[in-house]
Amino acid sequence: MSHRIAIGSIFTECNHFRGNPLTLEDFSRNELRRGTEVLEQSSGTVGGMLHVLADQGCDVSPLLVASTCPGGPVSSGCYRQLKTELLERLRTALPVAGVLLSLHGAATVEDVDDLEGDLLEAVRGIVGEAVLVVATLDLHAHVTDCMVHNADALVAWETYPHRDAFTTGERGARLLLDMLEGRCRPTMAMAKVPVMVTAIHGGTEGEGPFADCMRMAKREEGKSGVLSTSMFLVHPYVDLPEMGGGCVVITDNDLEAAVTLASSIAEYYWQRRMDLEPVLHTPESAIRLG
Ligand SMILES: [Zn+2]
Repeated sequence: MSHRIAIGSIFTECNHFRGNPLTLEDFSRNELRRGTEVLEQSSGTVGGMLHVLADQGCDVSPLLVASTCPGGPVSSGCYRQLKTELLERLRTALPVAGVLLSLHGAATVEDVDDLEGDLLEAVRGIVGEAVLVVATLDLHAHVTDCMVHNADALVAWETYPHRDAFTTGERGARLLLDMLEGRCRPTMAMAKVPVMVTAIHGGTEGEGPFADCMRMAKREEGKSGVLSTSMFLVHPYVDLPEMGGGCVVITDNDLEAAVTLASSIAEYYWQRRMDLEPVLHTPESAIRLG
């Protein structure tokens, strides 16, 4: 069945403590694809999404893909322009059966704390409640209630150092198609704990506290109606309310199970919080160690 799916992205990671505001020139220098230019993308999260949509014979409506290296908050003018353009293309593409967005989760704007929440809310406002909206997030996302409320599903990268953008895009697209074809009815819950740490113990492979958390979360996928688990190690350099890491769980039409599982994974993350602290050295001891 040929579903019409809109696809877009505004993607970056912001730092409130250092860095110049990100401008349109920054996005232009890195990645700024409009309309059919989006269809040329073969890598990254959007590449993974497009791969699945093409494979399934979907009718893709490309919106806008803008990404840039981390910096300060996105300038107000830049975000307004990117958002307006993405939304205008979405309006033109209607009616669509679903919307796929590749987002980071820790992007901010000079005058908007939660870029992703703001964008998802605007997209929801245009397509309405009946159209499915699925977004992928970096595992360093600062996930907000606004994001959870305005998306049908949020699916995060699973690896740090990151090497699974493409496969995460594929997972997001497959989940959207499963929903569209009636194979599941996702219900989503988030549980966060007030833990902010550096990336030093944030690896997802081998020994390590966050690797243990990720494995715990991923073991649950596929069990008794669990469609997706996403573990978050929040980007610590945004300065916003309700900061913390945790878990987003998506179950098949069982909100209570999603809440229970997300809470138990977040509780385990909380228990391991001290293991996430790096060992600190004075300059003298660091030189001796070196
Ligand atoms: Zn990241």
